[in-house]
Amino acid sequence: MRKPMVAGNWKLHKTIPEALELVEGLKKDVGDKQDVDIVVAPVFTALNAVAKAVKGSNIAIAAQNCYFENSGAFTGEVSPALLKDAGCSRVILGHSERRQIFGENDDLINRKIKAVLAEGLDVIFCIGETLEERDSEQTMEVLRRQVVEGLKGVAAEDMQKVVIAYEPVWAIGTGKTASGDQAQEAHSFVRGMVSGIFNPDIAAQTRILYGGSVKPDNVDELMAQDDIDGTLVGGASLKVADFARIVRFE
Ligand code: PGA
Repeated sequence: MRKPMVAGNWKLHKTIPEALELVEGLKKDVGDKQDVDIVVAPVFTALNAVAKAVKGSNIAIAAQNCYFENSGAFTGEVSPALLKDAGCSRVILGHSERRQIFGENDDLINRKIKAVLAEGLDVIFCIGETLEERDSEQTMEVLRRQVVEGLKGVAAEDMQKVVIAYEPVWAIGTGKTASGDQAQEAHSFVRGMVSGIFNPDIAAQTRILYGGSVKPDNVDELMAQDDIDGTLVGGASLKVADFARIVRFE
């Protein structure tokens, strides 16, 4: 009942010509696949070119971040309205690199989530614990805080526009993936949280993606878990063959 989603987070990679080459390859390979929502998130400077290139295909465009104000004296920022103008339908928010490298806290992420939803765009809301937090058995507490604070004030009817991505920080870019069981435990906990905050129907409809070193050779085990509804892919989304295989999980 939950349609799978596979999203590629291109991070700080790819010039406009390189981004176009990648997306043209994806279009050929998986662009007409209807049973999975496919999303790619290029750098800001390539967003509009990639958005034009995917028109008519099943590939949607996400931005990797944005600010919560729509215009004004905010030098260097990009707003939800401008992302929509550029052809984006989604925004990734709360990525651990934003939290850790750029100091984004739960409150800022919550404001961004509400601003993006108010603009009518969808959100891929990332959460996840660090290795230190996992080792000191704080994983569930961290996930609880991130979910509660991040979704504070979000209307129940807007939850259909929110996809949650569980990305354990220790698994991102490290080649270490959470096992299917580890990921399932976290996903089921997060779904329970969504049920408590909203209601069981919304929890049953909310897609929860797994992210962190997803590769062609581990995607099938992850996707076999009951509460894993798709993947958020970094490194392996930069190669057509790898990403296409992840989109065609078994
Ligand atoms: P990775 O990145 O697949 O390279 O681990 C995932 C992410 O950061 O979204």
